[in-house]
Amino acid sequence: MNTQIIDISIPLSSSTIVYPGNPQIEIQEIKSEASKSTISKIITGSHNGTHIDAPKHAIENGKSITDLPLDVFMGPCRVVDCTADTGAVSRETLESKNIQSRERILLKTSNSQRGYTEFYPDFVYLSPEGAQYLKEVGIALVGIDYFSIKQKGSTDNRPHTLLLEKDIPIIEGIDLSQVDEGEYTLVAFPLKYMGMDGAPARVVLLQ
Ligand SMILES: [Zn+2]
Repeated sequence: MNTQIIDISIPLSSSTIVYPGNPQIEIQEIKSEASKSTISKIITGSHNGTHIDAPKHAIENGKSITDLPLDVFMGPCRVVDCTADTGAVSRETLESKNIQSRERILLKTSNSQRGYTEFYPDFVYLSPEGAQYLKEVGIALVGIDYFSIKQKGSTDNRPHTLLLEKDIPIIEGIDLSQVDEGEYTLVAFPLKYMGMDGAPARVVLLQ
């Protein structure tokens, strides 16, 4: 098997940056004297690092992460290069990519180039018009290379709601700096935190 695994997950540690207002990651190494083993305590938020938003994140009575079928999180996907878009990924850019119904689409923006060691409030987000287009097309899943798909500080929540009300999961916090536009196989299973609004995931692309 010559499959190459490309890890697009952000490293998790107590120094991982988190979206303002979210709980910081706390990791405490605990030594068990009784069993002579190391058992660490982890405190984190459901939207820290590389994670998946479930409808419940933004939709009242929406599906939780464990209500979603697993098959959406594994299968063919396409990375689309939106690095020319400044500010927001536009509807026009997405229209030029010939996106089809049920595709899994990962948006590569200039966020990946800036990296994830400090928080940039002016990160590139998905425009509400772009979200509307992806909803109209009826994609299966979308991902973006920052910790939120909507503009920081904006009260326009459509980038979340338009997609999540159609049960289209959103992967946030993927690092696409080492990935070119093209077709891959996505593996992105969220941890099985029952009934949650979102959950961390180890997200990889197979090539
Ligand atoms: Zn989120």
